Amino acid sequence: MQLSLGPTQAQLDSCVTCGLCLPHCPTFRLTGDETASPRGRLTAMGAIAEGAVAADEVYARMLSFCLQCRACEAACPSLVPFGQMMEGARARLARERPTTTGRIRRLLVGKLLNLKWLLALVTSGVGLVQRLGIMRLLPRRMRLARGLRRQRVFPHSAVGVHDVAPAVPAGSVALLAGCVMDQWFPAVHDATRGVLSMAGYKVDSPETQRCCGALAAHEGAERDAARMAERNVTALQGYDYIVSDAAGCSAHLKDYGHWAEGGGSVAARTRDITEFVAELIDTGRLPEVDGDGGEVAIHDPCHLRHAQRIVDAPRKIVRAAGHTPVEIDPDGLCCGAAGLYMVYEPDTAEALGERKREQVEMAGPTTVVSANPGCEIQLRAHLGKGYRVLHPIELYWEALNR
Ligand code: SF4
Ligand code: SF4
Repeated sequence: MQLSLGPTQAQLDSCVTCGLCLPHCPTFRLTGDETASPRGRLTAMGAIAEGAVAADEVYARMLSFCLQCRACEAACPSLVPFGQMMEGARARLARERPTTTGRIRRLLVGKLLNLKWLLALVTSGVGLVQRLGIMRLLPRRMRLARGLRRQRVFPHSAVGVHDVAPAVPAGSVALLAGCVMDQWFPAVHDATRGVLSMAGYKVDSPETQRCCGALAAHEGAERDAARMAERNVTALQGYDYIVSDAAGCSAHLKDYGHWAEGGGSVAARTRDITEFVAELIDTGRLPEVDGDGGEVAIHDPCHLRHAQRIVDAPRKIVRAAGHTPVEIDPDGLCCGAAGLYMVYEPDTAEALGERKREQVEMAGPTTVVSANPGCEIQLRAHLGKGYRVLHPIELYWEALNR
């Protein structure tokens, strides 16, 4: 399939430069600099498309400083598809101005993340470092490591697990295992399978599936992202629903129409676990738990709130688990995790993570839910030991088992 990610002239023309997106952009809010704003980035993409300027280091920096949080897209009255345009612009830059760092990043997310044995080896290494207690010696800037310090990791995989079908299943679900999600968040997958089985679904995690390709797409590794999408279109066929319990992955699966032949079918059948379960609660097919389990702070992952516009579902799940949801951020600004961003832009990630920590502390609850693995790691890195961070589906599954 011929990829047509853009940015196309029609997409570029759809920006009327009104600036309404600017207050919603984390990098603009931090810097006040037009070149760190959605409008500035779109203007630069337009200048490159016209050939008016060369794709130089300044342009590369403008693109890489973007978190790809898509808050601008959600705020834009002209429906500018910023996320897709940024993926296309990064892919074009990778082709025309490849750098060593860019190549390494694309190798990591385009190839290495797909090697289950390698991920298991890395996971074992991280687990060993955790057990030796030397993670706390790592510098503060290594927030990823600090987040992992508060989260035990061990090699694990949900791939190949096929739950026993109920006598009359409500339907079939393919659980997208994911890459890091599969290795480092087994409890979330267990909760997802448990809840869906309770609602009468037959849940499989097909063996031939691959990483969804979201991180590869974000880094401009377009060929790798397309290959992963093609593999998954085949692996996920035949299921009524495809469910992901990582918001970044469900958002990307819903964009598969751009990435692979037959991708539109995957997109149409994909549900984020939060929206799927909220609907089952609404229709009475999953119960609401009585009781006062206390307040729970809601962190909205960007790829749930801005990319998929799912806002009510996690709150509904928290209420159904017998807790009271508490808002922490009316703007839904990015926590700074943003895939690999927290690794290669540690200062910005740090500033946004600290902002989120202050908001959680001011709100009061010591339990925080977030429906995306990167955000969970970032929140754990910034919040103190007294805090508990988990996926809304884990909270609900816990309540159902109480
Ligand atoms: S991206 Fe949308 S909101 Fe932002 S300046 Fe362009 S038209 Fe306005
Ligand atoms: S994706 Fe996020 S960081 Fe990038 S321009 Fe849009 S709002 Fe700003």
